[in-house]
Amino acid sequence: MATQLPSPPRVGMVSLGCPKNLVDSERILTQLRADGYQMSADYSGADVVLVNTCGFLDSAKEESLEAIGEAIAENGRVIVTGCMGKEAEAIRTRFPQVLAITGAHEYEQVVEAVHAAAPAAISPYVDLIPDAGLKLTPRHYSYLKISEGCNHRCSFCIIPSLRGDLVSRRPDAILREAEKLVAAGTRELLVISQDTSAYGIDIRREPRAWKGREVVPHMTDLARELGQIAPWVRLHYVYPYPHVDQVIPLMAEGLVLPYLDIPFQHAAPSVLRRMKRPANDAKVLDRIRAWRDICPDIAIRSTFVVGFPGETEADFDYLLDWLDEAQLDRVGAFRFEPVEGASANLLPDHVPEEVKEERYARVMEKTAAISAAKLQRKIGRTLDVIIDAVDAESGGATARSYADAPEIDGEVQLRDAGHLALGDIVPVVIEDADDHDLYGVPA
Ligand code: SF4
Repeated sequence: MATQLPSPPRVGMVSLGCPKNLVDSERILTQLRADGYQMSADYSGADVVLVNTCGFLDSAKEESLEAIGEAIAENGRVIVTGCMGKEAEAIRTRFPQVLAITGAHEYEQVVEAVHAAAPAAISPYVDLIPDAGLKLTPRHYSYLKISEGCNHRCSFCIIPSLRGDLVSRRPDAILREAEKLVAAGTRELLVISQDTSAYGIDIRREPRAWKGREVVPHMTDLARELGQIAPWVRLHYVYPYPHVDQVIPLMAEGLVLPYLDIPFQHAAPSVLRRMKRPANDAKVLDRIRAWRDICPDIAIRSTFVVGFPGETEADFDYLLDWLDEAQLDRVGAFRFEPVEGASANLLPDHVPEEVKEERYARVMEKTAAISAAKLQRKIGRTLDVIIDAVDAESGGATARSYADAPEIDGEVQLRDAGHLALGDIVPVVIEDADDHDLYGVPA
């Protein structure tokens, strides 16, 4: 007689916020799968719904509360986790029926809460985890979190109070995870943390054995090792500390992508001082020039906040001039938003909303023009791209070059590319460009 397998409980997941939160969601789901749970793609099929919340901005908190409300209305059995776990009381007041609330990266607690809400039916026949765990991103690229928390105290940010000081993962554990991801189909690793350049400062004296050699927990050493594991390695959230210079030759060698995501946030010294930003000095422009001397193709991405308290017209003009000099490849801008609990809220001279809007429009216009000019210069070149989507009917494909991180940067739209598969890395000839995207054809 065939073995009757117990039907496993099903868990729904709503994951909000940044890629770091997404990685937390993946870890939770991986553990739940290991414990015998199945996932539900909709509310109605779920025995319990997990809402992984983001509390970075007030608007993100509101979105999280709305998601909790929706999950309660649609399913009724809801567990809340993530950054908003710190505000359990506020959540309970609004949604007394929530089953449990746990904080950011309290993996064990959230998994325990799921076990209590929907006990798992353990069976040796079904308790297998895919080798790379469960992933919420497409198979060909994966976020790789190397540390948690942050030692800085930027005045507009509440992440350190939500997530604590920097805690680095062991380098051998990171490299093992990277290998599993690549074995499961990942072609591009996106290295993330709150502060990638600070990786390892808490465990510097603890090198680990890896493939018969010792790996020091340091960004450069880790990047070099990762470059030998995955075809593409992309570094996010890097601050311009002096040792970042050491990673640029790895980019020139082709070991990691010539792409640096550095959240500068502003350029005017007085604004940076009030923001309490790390590693921002007057020499940043010189550093960028030196990086381009070593690796001329390097794509630098950054984000900026406009309308920070006390930002004068002169400060803003300074930022625009700085952008002219820096010629960054990719820029995102935000209007300053006071987040509850951030010390910046107490600063004097808040900028009126209409001035923020106007500055935002000006910075976007400036950076779009810089981007358009830089992309024009790529026409006629042959670049490697990674395929993200293929439209068999039209024969077109959507891809990204080394200068494009998924979801936040531009794309390369391809014609005559219907024969390609997701995750293929192929050379293409660039035929056209607009403000943010390139257009081309397989070479
Ligand atoms: S570096 Fe600043 S903005 Fe980034 S997480 Fe740390 S405190 Fe927040």
